[in-house]
Amino acid sequence: MKTFNYHSAKDVKEASKLSSSKSAFLAGGMTTLPSMKLGLASYNDLINLKNIKNLSGIKVSGKTIKIGSTTKHAEVSQSKEVKKAIPSLAALAEGIGDPQVRNRGTIGGSIANNDPAADYPSACIALNAVIHTNERKIEAEKFFKGMFETALKTGEIIEAVEFEIPKKSNYQKYPNPASRYAIVGVYVAECKSGVNVAVTGAKSCVYNDKNLSSALSKNFSSSAIDGIEISSSGMNSDIHASAEYRANMVKVFTKKAVEAC
Ligand SMILES: Cc1cc2nc3c(=O)[nH]c(=O)nc-3n(C[C@H](O)[C@H](O)[C@H](O)COP(=O)(O)OP(=O)(O)OC[C@H]3O[C@@H](n4cnc5c(N)ncnc54)[C@H](O)[C@@H]3O)c2cc1C
Repeated sequence: MKTFNYHSAKDVKEASKLSSSKSAFLAGGMTTLPSMKLGLASYNDLINLKNIKNLSGIKVSGKTIKIGSTTKHAEVSQSKEVKKAIPSLAALAEGIGDPQVRNRGTIGGSIANNDPAADYPSACIALNAVIHTNERKIEAEKFFKGMFETALKTGEIIEAVEFEIPKKSNYQKYPNPASRYAIVGVYVAECKSGVNVAVTGAKSCVYNDKNLSSALSKNFSSSAIDGIEISSSGMNSDIHASAEYRANMVKVFTKKAVEAC
């Protein structure tokens, strides 16, 4: 590992000021530290966010749940408020990695990293999330730009993620047997504006399947998508699953999620 400067920021303003194109924020370190150890990434500065108090916590209002960016997966999975308002979100957090990862990894780090197989990005898309940063509010549909790419600019810090409380929702995934990242994950949610079917693991970036969403908005039953063909074009293909297998799983898991709602 190359040498770097370590900073512990006392507030968001200081963290943002310290950052540059050669720095990373340290939330739980679950991606940043292994990447540095393996020589896949190197930074001049690591800026710890963990001591910034108002970045952590869960608040439920009538229509939304707002989760602070340094809130750990274990806190979301165990939260009584989340379990009551959006049980599928608590279940998603419980299915991430292993206990060590869930007790270090954070919601802000997960979505800032935007791994193509990560779970939280699908929740953001399905639940019409708004990403609150120190500079602006970004709708989830505009936040996830591509593989490991988001709308965040240098120095921009996620402060919280605000999820709409849906009428009903469910998340289904086929986890990688080693890491538990999604080989394919499908999050179905019936929100005020209609149904969203957010897919992770299948392509280079999370996406809302418009055909499935539209069919389920008209008729929320698993048979409503029987006639829809899922194309394998653009789908990931690797030792775990071919593109064709992933395409089939998108449909199977959408049906499973609808039936489990
Ligand atoms: C063994 C293992 C298994 C895993 N399994 C799963 C899984 O099944 N499903 C899944 O979804 N994920 C999984 N993960 C990922 C994990 O859940 C973490 O959320 C993810 O690694 C990010 O880690 P972190 O929160 O510690 O962020 P860090 O590693 O500290 O940071 C990651 C990146 O996000 C940026 N960042 C962090 N916080 C902010 C912020 N507030 N604002 C702006 N930028 C920020 C940093 O600059 C850095 O670039 C796994 C990880 C490991 C190591």
